[in-house]
Amino acid sequence: MGSPASKDAIRSITTWATTPAQVRPAGQRKATEEFGSLTFNEEVQRARLPKDVYRSLRRAVAHGESIEPNVADILASALKDWAVEHGATHYTHWFQPLTGITAEKHDSFLSPSADGRAVAEFSGKELVRGEPDASSFPSGGMRSTFEARGYTAWDPTSPPWLLETGSGTTLVIPTAFVSWTGEALDKKTPLLRSMESLSKQAVRILKLFGSKAARVTATCGPEQEYFLIDRQFYFNRPDLINAGRTLFGARPPKGQEMEDHYFGSIPDRVLAFMMEVERELNRVGVPLKTRHNEVAPGQFEVAPIFENANVATDHQMMTMEMLRRIAPKYGLACLMHEKPFAGVNGSGKHLNWSMSDELGNNLLNPGDTPHENIQFLVFCAAVIRAVNKFQGLLRFSIASAGNDHRLGANEAPPAIISIFLGDQLTDIFQQVEKAGSAKTTKSGGIMDIGVAVLPKLPRDAGDRNRTSPFAFTGNKFEFRAVSSNQSIALPNVVLNVAITESLDYCATELEKGLKEGKKLQAAVKQLLVKVVRENKRIIFNGNGYSDEWQKEAAKRGLLNHRTSVDAYGEAMKPEVVAAFEKYGVLSEREWHARYEVAVEQYNKTINVEAQLMVLMANRYILPAAYQFQGTLAGSVAAVKAAGATSKETRRALDTLCELVDECKVRVDRLQGLLDQQHDGAAEKHARFFRDKVIPAMEALREAADSLEVIVPHDVWPLPTYREMLFIK
Ligand code: ADP
Ligand code: MG
Repeated sequence: MGSPASKDAIRSITTWATTPAQVRPAGQRKATEEFGSLTFNEEVQRARLPKDVYRSLRRAVAHGESIEPNVADILASALKDWAVEHGATHYTHWFQPLTGITAEKHDSFLSPSADGRAVAEFSGKELVRGEPDASSFPSGGMRSTFEARGYTAWDPTSPPWLLETGSGTTLVIPTAFVSWTGEALDKKTPLLRSMESLSKQAVRILKLFGSKAARVTATCGPEQEYFLIDRQFYFNRPDLINAGRTLFGARPPKGQEMEDHYFGSIPDRVLAFMMEVERELNRVGVPLKTRHNEVAPGQFEVAPIFENANVATDHQMMTMEMLRRIAPKYGLACLMHEKPFAGVNGSGKHLNWSMSDELGNNLLNPGDTPHENIQFLVFCAAVIRAVNKFQGLLRFSIASAGNDHRLGANEAPPAIISIFLGDQLTDIFQQVEKAGSAKTTKSGGIMDIGVAVLPKLPRDAGDRNRTSPFAFTGNKFEFRAVSSNQSIALPNVVLNVAITESLDYCATELEKGLKEGKKLQAAVKQLLVKVVRENKRIIFNGNGYSDEWQKEAAKRGLLNHRTSVDAYGEAMKPEVVAAFEKYGVLSEREWHARYEVAVEQYNKTINVEAQLMVLMANRYILPAAYQFQGTLAGSVAAVKAAGATSKETRRALDTLCELVDECKVRVDRLQGLLDQQHDGAAEKHARFFRDKVIPAMEALREAADSLEVIVPHDVWPLPTYREMLFIK
């Protein structure tokens, strides 16, 4: 019931601060000591491993070299001792199947000994390989149930950590997940493969510029947006529990129009929650950096310091998990859905991406005078070319039923993929296009605020642009169309593959130029002019929310896939499949599986949402409306019996009856659509959902939301937006 739920919520809000904190005491330890204290990190490795084993592990991490079985045995034993000393009783191979969430199967370290006791054991074999039954994970047609074998393979480049819960501790070992035939069934395997291929091509270019670097790493810093609401509300919303978003709910009188939430002071309960999340994540080695309120009421953001893309992806999954897990301790529910509430902003996940060599040089760092930094210009041009050539693939990588509510909705980037470069770089590339090279760099200069006591601030050469799906932000690109609920693995893989292909192209062109006897400068010049000319249409620094951009983008021939269903087909374009195969990231079969799983997930999501709407309308909303109908009808009859007249009460009853009827008609129409049989292609089914089911869902919601605003509060069975968004 709406009102008991809000009473409970209000009670828990007012009492949480006075109940003895369940919070782990901040303790005597400094944050610097806490950081990574639950990870088998480099320091622990150095202290606990024999020198040669330590070295071979570090070589594996830094250079991707493989680890010998005898080394793995020693490692496993040290890892187990460390974990057991920290209270671990079990270990788990932790992996990322195509469901998009993580999976784990726990095994005990204990094995019984002959004298009836038990010893803790863990061999190299157990560290290196696990064998979960693979048949219940989506494989996109790669495997049938009778070929159920799947293996998890230890990823030595991502440090193991200890999962502490109230009742025990488990050693978590990040792994890749593959089938018996060696095909990738997960998100990590292609990510690792794509990072290797990116490295190879990037190093080819670095060599031409005289660098000694032997390895380049994709780096990544994902910013996560999320909503927090009181848990009492959550439990009273079947749609939040089962679909992650509200399927009904009238617009509240106050939404985000006052713009009073963004960067506002963080409510106490929320801050306490954030601090615990940060502390716990820091202990397992996730380097969180910023926290703040976001635009919508009840919306927040957390961001880490960037790391190599593989570790960052693991850490991102751990961050989402930790947010979800800790929220209930504070009486909160954490909503990671892209659009939990209609009418206020949805949530995204900005994927900051760059490349760095093993000496720590960021290859997308333009320096103070980018026009002179031709190595930077080559890497930057390669990204521009990649985004232009693989627009469709990038669009595919962020497609989902949830993200459809967000993209192009004047709060998130449009569905058109383009690059914001900023004035400074755009100017340089324009000079390059005209003259073959650039002579100057526009500078931002110094900003005088006009108050003597305030410092003079250096001004950035360009402003920010929040409307771009892919923006250059100083020394990295920010892929902003990524959605809050998705794993960042696929967007990372897709960027790596697209940019690998582009770096390969650039390296080949440069090498050809040099072979023909050109100086490096001249070869670069020729390459840049060509790349800029052919790809500049992807650069757009203006307002991505505007209608003009839609028209302009069409003129430029850029793709504009408004819905995910439009975008899925992009995955199987020949040049995309060819790139995945050529660089050994995914075979056609493996890649096709990703496409299939994506479409299936879309279909399942809409199906669940639609079924839920029917259920909620029939069993929650209409019964409340009938009850009010009865009350109102009784009132009309009583007035009449008393010999009085009230035209308005009568009219209110008529309006209500009309709305109730309309609502019922729309429920039945939606149910009718869901009852239709479907066979054949998943994409065809997806089009049916998009073209028929979603409009029917929207129509039903409209009728139900109209009822919400006239049915009395104490009868309405669901917590309202007004309550959920504002009672914290
Ligand atoms: P902004 O406010 O411009 O988005 P921040 O400096 O707060 O920028 O960075 C946002 C995210 O980008 C952080 O997670 C940060 O660690 C990450 N980031 C910074 N430099 C890089 C880089 N070279 N590669 C990948 N991510 C980076
Ligand atoms: Mg940002």
